[in-house]
Amino acid sequence: MNRPAFDDIFMELAASLAKRSHCIKKHVGAVLTKETRIISIGYNGPPAGTHNCDEEFPHEGCAKDSKGSCSLAIHAEQNAILYAVKNNTSVEGSTLYVTLAPCLSCARIIFSMGIKKVVYLKSYAAYKGLPSDEGVDFLQKFGVEVEQYRKELAIDDALI
Ligand SMILES: [Zn+2]
Ligand SMILES: [Zn+2]
Repeated sequence: MNRPAFDDIFMELAASLAKRSHCIKKHVGAVLTKETRIISIGYNGPPAGTHNCDEEFPHEGCAKDSKGSCSLAIHAEQNAILYAVKNNTSVEGSTLYVTLAPCLSCARIIFSMGIKKVVYLKSYAAYKGLPSDEGVDFLQKFGVEVEQYRKELAIDDALI
């Protein structure tokens, strides 16, 4: 019997959550954990009850911001953090699993919230054509542990 590590369970869940995203640009999922428990989840998209990009803009795609990202969406990491905070769950000292390395603006929030470790699946720099993963650089510079998940996922990650 193959006994999965928590790292595998949490990253596979993040990848599954990414598939729930309604955004057309990029699907990202996040799982916020403390020790071996899940304290929150999130995926990228406009705030609940506002837009579903894929249904509203099936041809033209999401409304873009100056960096070419969906201008309506809250990023997966921020959705996971906001949900925890809204429900009075402390994220201090938690570990974040996310399918795409955090952007700089998420990195600032992750640091401010006292999240101690980030495990990401894919490089944000590779996706955006940037010279480096600026969010990862920021987190590491200020003492947040960051690690890339390098194992093969049991689920198909072609679209995330
Ligand atoms: Zn969108
Ligand atoms: Zn972000």
